[in-house]
Amino acid sequence: MYSNARQYCDDLFQRVVARNANEPEFHQAVREVLDSLAVVLERHPEYIEEGIVERLVEPERQIIFRVPWVDDSGRVQVNRGFRVQFNSAIGPYKGGLRFHPSVNVGIIKFLGFEQIFKNSLTGLPIGGGKGGSDFDPKGKSDGEVMRFCQSFMAELYRHIGQDIDVPAGDIGVGAREIGYMYGQYKRLTGACEAGVLTGKGLIYGGSLVRKQATGYGLVYFTEEMMNDHGDSLRGKTVLVSGSGNVSIYTTEKAMELGAKIVAMSDSNGYVYDAGGIDLDIVKQLKEVERKRISEYVKHRPAAEYHPGWTGIWNVPCDVALPCATQNEIDAQSAQTLVKNGCRVVAEGANMPTSLEGTEIFLQGGVLFGPAKAANAGGVATSALEMSQNSMRLSWTFEEVDEKLRRIMKNIYVASSQAAVEYGRRDNLVLGANVAGFKKVAEAMMAQGVV
Ligand code: NDP
Repeated sequence: MYSNARQYCDDLFQRVVARNANEPEFHQAVREVLDSLAVVLERHPEYIEEGIVERLVEPERQIIFRVPWVDDSGRVQVNRGFRVQFNSAIGPYKGGLRFHPSVNVGIIKFLGFEQIFKNSLTGLPIGGGKGGSDFDPKGKSDGEVMRFCQSFMAELYRHIGQDIDVPAGDIGVGAREIGYMYGQYKRLTGACEAGVLTGKGLIYGGSLVRKQATGYGLVYFTEEMMNDHGDSLRGKTVLVSGSGNVSIYTTEKAMELGAKIVAMSDSNGYVYDAGGIDLDIVKQLKEVERKRISEYVKHRPAAEYHPGWTGIWNVPCDVALPCATQNEIDAQSAQTLVKNGCRVVAEGANMPTSLEGTEIFLQGGVLFGPAKAANAGGVATSALEMSQNSMRLSWTFEEVDEKLRRIMKNIYVASSQAAVEYGRRDNLVLGANVAGFKKVAEAMMAQGVV
């Protein structure tokens, strides 16, 4: 039917674009995976015969719903809620909820699609899903956020469960939002089903290290990748974009390992602090006061604030860790980073580098850790939270941290071995896609056409 696997992938990609119009982020995520999979399909024609990839690019279920709520002035507001249950071949759907005005079905689909491979790479039994809303928590009172979360859960609760689908946080969804949603789920179902959501507070079923896990995991992965090439983070100058959950704990762990973080950002601009970012100030501004990063310079007059958040990539560095959002590094930023001597890039955010930017890093000999592998520590620790909930036990910080460290090492090893197996040494984009895919594909083969 197809003269070769490459032609099959190209044809499938055209069908995905035609069938999912106006979803550029989803197309981008599928394109990257299909580019990696052609070599696997050449060796495994049975995956083509069984329609494995055709089934993988089609979500098992997509739910879109109305979320009405009343703001502080008594006006009715209406947002849109999403949950995309992408693939459950290896376990219950698992993936975060994003609350941000830019959220639409294409963004949730790109995130859910990536989640399938990421979750597989963790080695834990979790399928892929993602959800969220175009609600903007910024500038809303706690009461407004609570009413929104309750209304959101009033519909979502029908579709989730500890053995069905287990949401967590993402952009705009932290401990506060998870708490309100868990409270509403408990009220609606009348059961303390702790394993239905992860990222919960420690006193009602949360796990130690979950808050830090994506950032710490990213740094463990980066250190592993650098060690494998005879290098380490010690003494390196590092850029960390964003100043949210992932960025803060990436910065914390990288500093612990001896790196100097000189810049961080938010969606308005970035701060440059030649002496090294003072993380206590960032935590106070972002975690406690919910303020803008521009306020940082009031506390550190020697630091500089620059409006325009992608300007951060013009700052010379050894290592860049994008931790804000998708497509924050385009071809031009990638070129600038390489020109300024950046040798290592590892993605804390999901798909922060455009396809062109990724190619520039790979061609330029930059050690590149793709998101699916490098930021999998968050979801891995969420799965550890589910395990503790099932056992009704709590592990210590050290126990969870050690498991996270081991998982990140295993992900690096699995991705780099897959890259070698398919003749593309050090291409971890290919390695992570292939290693994540093969396990899901085998499970789908075993379970028949469902
Ligand atoms: P947060 O909401 O805590 O922080 C997001 C940060 O990115 C903020 O500083 C935000 O600035 C900044 N930002 C800049 N531009 C944008 C933009 N256009 N849209 C949204 N945010 C922007 O989110 P997280 O730290 O949880 O998530 C960051 C990234 O990491 C996302 O890509 C997410 O999918 C990914 N990720 C998160 C995991 C987790 O465990 N939380 C797990 C794996 C991946 P501002 O405050 O101005 O909006």
